[in-house]
Amino acid sequence: MLIYNLCQFSTQFTAFSLFFGFTLGRYLMTTLLGWAAIKLYLSRLRARISGKNASMQQIRKELLYSLRSILIFALLWAAASSDITGHSRLYWQIQEHGWRYLGFSFLLILILHDTFVYWTHRLMHQPLLFRYFHKLHHCSVHSTPFSIYSFDLAEATLHGLFFFLISLLLPLHNIVLGGMLWVSGIANVIGHLGYEPMPQAWLQSLGKLFNTTTHHDLHHTKGGQCNYGLYFRFWDWIMGTEYPDYEAAFLTATQNVTQKDSHL
Ligand SMILES: [Zn+2]
Ligand SMILES: [Zn+2]
Repeated sequence: MLIYNLCQFSTQFTAFSLFFGFTLGRYLMTTLLGWAAIKLYLSRLRARISGKNASMQQIRKELLYSLRSILIFALLWAAASSDITGHSRLYWQIQEHGWRYLGFSFLLILILHDTFVYWTHRLMHQPLLFRYFHKLHHCSVHSTPFSIYSFDLAEATLHGLFFFLISLLLPLHNIVLGGMLWVSGIANVIGHLGYEPMPQAWLQSLGKLFNTTTHHDLHHTKGGQCNYGLYFRFWDWIMGTEYPDYEAAFLTATQNVTQKDSHL
């Protein structure tokens, strides 16, 4: 029995170490790429959407709190992947459900995750919950790529729980789960760049459906009263929570600095 328990502990500890390394590596890679894009390109091309830069003190806090969130995510995702409950539906063999299901499950989890984020995000903005769940994230009024996981303990647990619970409810290939974690990390970094990277024509095409940096930047600068979605605009449209002047703000944010100067 002791040997069995030791083996179980060692499996779970290995899973935790792997997920911690994976999540920390993903955070550093995506945020540093975002930071480099700002410094080398975006800040030379366009003005900051909010008009103000973040302080170094804010960035230090964001790094520290993100590290704590990464620890929580790693604990929960390691629990899911090492099947701590005995009911995990994660699988490795594609043949178990086929290629079509693999593609379908990716789309489904994307929509489910966006729905989960929209509704929990709105809930966390209720005055009773805000101070315990979401206040820390909004300390970053002028967001940076490092803000993405700057969460209160309760909010980090809530976000980590989504992937834990979904692995119990839906058959998911491990590649789909890993891919989704990358997609959500990249979408989060884009949302917190503080500079709009998309071209002006974006709103006439995919921008009708997908969010932009301007969309989430307005969420931070307008006191969290609008724009709650993560990947898509549809929940904000349906529920009437999109910032009324979002499209005008996007067009302003996509004016290049030289273009702006020539209008002065
Ligand atoms: Zn944010
Ligand atoms: Zn918020």
